[in-house]
Amino acid sequence: MADADPQEITVPASSRYGGQVLELFIPQAKIQGKVAEMAAVLSEQYRERCPILIGVLNGSFMFMADLVRQLDIDFEIDFIKIASYGSETSSTGTVRLLKDISADITGRDVVIVEDIVDTGLTVKFLRNRMEEAAPASVIFVTLLLKYEVANLDFTIDYVGFNIPNRFVVGYGLDVDQKLRGLRSLYAFREN
Ligand code: 5GP
Repeated sequence: MADADPQEITVPASSRYGGQVLELFIPQAKIQGKVAEMAAVLSEQYRERCPILIGVLNGSFMFMADLVRQLDIDFEIDFIKIASYGSETSSTGTVRLLKDISADITGRDVVIVEDIVDTGLTVKFLRNRMEEAAPASVIFVTLLLKYEVANLDFTIDYVGFNIPNRFVVGYGLDVDQKLRGLRSLYAFREN
């Protein structure tokens, strides 16, 4: 594993949050341990089957890449891209489909791979979109769940970390499209 990431990161000046300080929230080793655990559970659940994992762009690309490298079953992947409207650090009312899946998921076992569930609006939208295509089964996997905010009338099947309502950055998650490449998760300092 590469060297530990720094305790603090300053948001680059090219972002409107430039100069603000992010503090280490979940270090890379802890993320990698959790991803391996989740992959083991999924490998067990889908043994002798070939699920299609659908990553929700953009934020889930890194989680997806790490997760699939730890699976020891046959699987396929696809991606879907959703826009949710709101300010940069909080999501509000509406979601819109920007890129649909290309695979035919009728009769397939589908695993939706999310980076973070905040209000739950995105996963509700995804559930409706999946149901239209009549898959054999659909489960939801998310690395992070904001338990104080999420308002869901169904269960997220596998959650990596339940986190408080803080804006997190890194490991695929952005602030103003920046800092997705950080290997650890960081959070804005609480005021
Ligand atoms: P929802 O509110 O629909 O559950 O989440 C909408 C989207 O908002 C997530 O998929 C993610 O892209 C973004 N989001 C929510 N919370 C955070 C956060 O703490 N950090 C970042 N970077 N994005 C977030």
